[in-house]
Amino acid sequence: MLPEASSLWLLRLLRDIQLAQFYQPILEELNVTRPEHFDFVRPEDLDNIGMGRPAQRRLAEALKRHRSGVKYKNWVYKILGGFVPEQKETTSPSDCLPCLSEPEGGLKCLIPEGAVCRGELLGSGCFGVVHQGLWTLPSGQSIPVAVKSLRVGPEGPGGTELGDFLREVSIMMKLEHPHVLRLHGLVLGQPLQMVMELAPLGSLHSRLTAPAPTPPLPVALLCLFLRQLAGAMAYLGSRGLVHRDLATRNLLLASQRTIKVADFGLVRPLGGTRGRYVMGGPRPIPYAWCAPESLRQGAFSSASDVWMFGVTLWEMFSGGEEPWAGVPPYLILQRLEKDRARLPKPPLCSRALYSLALHCWAPHPADRPSFSYLEGLLQEAWPSEGRCVREVTEPGALRMEPGDPVTVIEGSPDTTIWKGQNGRTFKVGNFPASAVILTDLGGSSVTYPVHKGSPARGERCRGNTDGDREKVKLQDLPLARGQRRKEPLQRMKGMSKSLESVLSLGPRPTGGGSSPPELRHSRAVPQGLPDLPPHPPFISSSQPTQPHRARPPLLKRESPHNHRPGEPGASKATTPFGGPLSDPEWQRKIIEVELSVHGVTHQECQVALRTTGGDVASAIRNLKVDQLFHLSSRSRADCRRILEHHHWDLSAASRYVLARP
Ligand code: ATP
Repeated sequence: MLPEASSLWLLRLLRDIQLAQFYQPILEELNVTRPEHFDFVRPEDLDNIGMGRPAQRRLAEALKRHRSGVKYKNWVYKILGGFVPEQKETTSPSDCLPCLSEPEGGLKCLIPEGAVCRGELLGSGCFGVVHQGLWTLPSGQSIPVAVKSLRVGPEGPGGTELGDFLREVSIMMKLEHPHVLRLHGLVLGQPLQMVMELAPLGSLHSRLTAPAPTPPLPVALLCLFLRQLAGAMAYLGSRGLVHRDLATRNLLLASQRTIKVADFGLVRPLGGTRGRYVMGGPRPIPYAWCAPESLRQGAFSSASDVWMFGVTLWEMFSGGEEPWAGVPPYLILQRLEKDRARLPKPPLCSRALYSLALHCWAPHPADRPSFSYLEGLLQEAWPSEGRCVREVTEPGALRMEPGDPVTVIEGSPDTTIWKGQNGRTFKVGNFPASAVILTDLGGSSVTYPVHKGSPARGERCRGNTDGDREKVKLQDLPLARGQRRKEPLQRMKGMSKSLESVLSLGPRPTGGGSSPPELRHSRAVPQGLPDLPPHPPFISSSQPTQPHRARPPLLKRESPHNHRPGEPGASKATTPFGGPLSDPEWQRKIIEVELSVHGVTHQECQVALRTTGGDVASAIRNLKVDQLFHLSSRSRADCRRILEHHHWDLSAASRYVLARP
């Protein structure tokens, strides 16, 4: 006799525990057709159909699991928006349920339990353990994944844990961004499991604190991570979400050059018109990362996430140190508000970046920058790349050999001593500016305001007056080792207004900011001199001291911001490639490009348009190629092919390259 559809659940349940032979008697003699009917079945009834006591115990266990599975699914369906047909609720957890189609094209699905095999333990959190795993797709292809399982006590999962777990699922389901950890799907098994994209290199915090011989992360890479993070956070904000737990421990490394925001356990939608989420009850909160309003009122918003971004930046440049270490949690708020204390400037951090962090730590949420604004600021604060041209052996100086790639952390045309990181040794220190040429502009001996926070900043660069410098092809420029070039042309323009406004904030940081002395870093100052002295302290026998490197005449770039009204050129500023900056048509083109490519700045669009002689479509394509190139480890030609294949859909192409590192 064929089992009836309404009692299929029973057959499956009995089969799972090897008691299928009792299906008929239970159905016909005990009249059980629904799980709750078992509430009225006594052990003697089961004895009467010939079921022994050990088998009865197995049945009781299976029923318990089945019922809590049904309960999960009710929750799940509620949270996931009822995509799954109601009758499926009574099927076994191991059944393959239909895929939940994602509005944005990603495939987030309910995954059959048997399709996921768990391996090595990666770690554990508040309400789950995370294993590495392998997910076998219906096509037979297997992909490495991370599997987070809901921790289940003897009484089953607690309501809060289950709620938090499912909330995390429901939030992650809706997210699709190259720098947000992807949820592949959910296993409605015992225990409940989230199947996520695997970040094979673990958390950024572990990487930052990895002991020698693991080399520290290069400053330029940290800057890249900051940009990726700001982009991901801008995306979350645009989805009306607040993360509430931004920290390097929750940033995962998907590849050497890609971070992903993870841990959505504390993410909440922003409610109401004030764009704030106020915590309902006592929950653990990461004090040292929190904005004052979060500590005082439990109020979280995009602005409090921006505060946390500042702390995360600080962690990154402090080698993963703990913020406010040694300060008891109850004193942190007092330090922030009464003493107006801030975390000190880490030695690896440039003044420009530290000023940006101080901006994120503005006391009033409304005074903090938005994430999209931060993306632009980060671009402006990007460190310059250079190459060493002579051996540096002067006492106290950062040792360098000719050809060493150098990331310039601090420097300006007015100083002869710069601070930077040797890309070969990863050591940080001061060195004579004359020992390095900047490669951003084509490898020729060029100086210009490196530290864009320098008061001497201006629209300067070396070049011939017809703007030929801008025609240098990106591919032709030598790359610093292990570094991707970062918008070399844009660099020529010096500081933007936006960064100027950030740098004008608060006290000029000189290594300690406004932090109390006891909070300043006690860690070793990097190799080299403690501060940039006004006179060059280096005396080299092989090379005479150069009080000031001879500089070629600097070209002042025309920009609408350069001219005060009435000054020559104020009314007809033009670019070297045509396209008057004041021309409304030119402005319209810039905006069109800006709107078409996610994450690009106004300046990048200007440059791209100039390069294509004003052709909007080509500028958009070139910028998309650039974006994909910076995101992946592929060549520009590859990026162009991939984009063409994806009909120039940047997010689809990004997903493609990230899935195939
Ligand atoms: P909590 O969730 O309690 O805030 P947590 O972030 O430490 O804490 P989980 O998100 O459960 O907890 O992660 C536990 C560990 O597993 C972390 O150390 C994390 O680095 C690692 N981990 C989590 N997800 C992944 C992933 N997708 N790929 C690689 N490792 C991961």
